Amino acid sequence: MLIRNATLADGRHRDVRVAGEDIETVGHGVERCDGERVVDATGKRLLPGMVDVHVHLREPGFEHKETWETGTRSAAVGGVTTVVDQPNTRPPTVEGPAFDRKRSHADDALVDFGINGGVTEHWDPDSLFDRPLFALGEVFLADSTGEMGIDESLFVDALERARQEGVPVTVHAEDESVFDHSARERTDADAWSAYRRADAEIRATRRACALAADRDTRVHIAHASTPESIDAAARTASTCEVTPHHMLLSRRHLDELGTHGRMNPPLRRERHRRKVFERVVDGTVDVVATDHAPHTRQEKDAGIWDAPSGVPGVETALPLLLAQARQGTLGFDRVRDLTARNPAAIFGLPRKGGIEEGNHADLVLVDTDDVEHIRATDLHTNVGWTPFEGHEAVFPEWTMCRGQVVYRRGRDSFEPHQGENVRRENSDR
Ligand SMILES: [Zn+2]
Repeated sequence: MLIRNATLADGRHRDVRVAGEDIETVGHGVERCDGERVVDATGKRLLPGMVDVHVHLREPGFEHKETWETGTRSAAVGGVTTVVDQPNTRPPTVEGPAFDRKRSHADDALVDFGINGGVTEHWDPDSLFDRPLFALGEVFLADSTGEMGIDESLFVDALERARQEGVPVTVHAEDESVFDHSARERTDADAWSAYRRADAEIRATRRACALAADRDTRVHIAHASTPESIDAAARTASTCEVTPHHMLLSRRHLDELGTHGRMNPPLRRERHRRKVFERVVDGTVDVVATDHAPHTRQEKDAGIWDAPSGVPGVETALPLLLAQARQGTLGFDRVRDLTARNPAAIFGLPRKGGIEEGNHADLVLVDTDDVEHIRATDLHTNVGWTPFEGHEAVFPEWTMCRGQVVYRRGRDSFEPHQGENVRRENSDR
């Protein structure tokens, strides 16, 4: 396929030839080959597919929430071409056989994927590292969904082991000892934000970054929701990600969202949200990742102390960012860096994250005039709701994964495709 006259994230106009799974040529006036399909991309943006390093696909164990099939379809619609699954499934991915079981489900993936290994008291690093792991994470320096919280000494063990193995560690940082228990008397949705106060995250993030720096290594801070946490990571060699919900939603949305707005870390005050957004724009934040954490409506409709934490997001992240870019609040080149280039570089993914000759043809074509309002009923996640109902979004016209168009928006149709593990797999095991 020859994609003609596309506008890249940095505004340059280029022709892009896709041959097999790869980007073969990026240039000007590229001649059409015999029989080659030509796509006129004049006036449209061509971006690298999103590498979402924080997704909970729920299978095995919680298939009523999401599966590898539904979750990766949802990803493809949103322009995500690589997802990284987290370990709090049942069984949790904390030892080799659990990894193998999850890996067999991942055969249903429509897009490429990585599988993270978890750290709990019961983890077995030897058998885990015998598998093609993506990274360690998310390691909970706090109790969270799936009861996978760990203490500091185990965290330090995990840091050491990850350094030996040459893989990153993604950290969920919230210090439970500073939660505000007086908020537990309340029953409104905002009580969750009051309870899991910002200081709990700031303190745990600073600690995680310091522990890593002491060992001459780094961590990747998951879903930073406060400006102080982002700055703490930026002061060390550590990196951080921000979710679209912490960029775009705040406590003032909780009246409307109710328990559907409960997640960890929780939504913060509007003035903090603005400072988080500023740091996304100015380059202090390294990555946007979704923390796609689907639960059914029925589960979410419980009281604030009983509803599970987490919101779906893999389908709406890039479209929301593209709508911001269209409005001029965020550059298209920043969107590319946050969603593709930086995650690929931080997690060491060769041939992902950019439109360059020799890279995988993981691409999205976007018509930025095609603005939609997000509607839950149009989404492809199994759970059928979103915290972004009514928000402006620009969905990709199509999404290509390793040279194959896997989703077309006009027809709302998927093409069969086999996602691959982004970490090399031994054929002899
Ligand atoms: Zn998570």
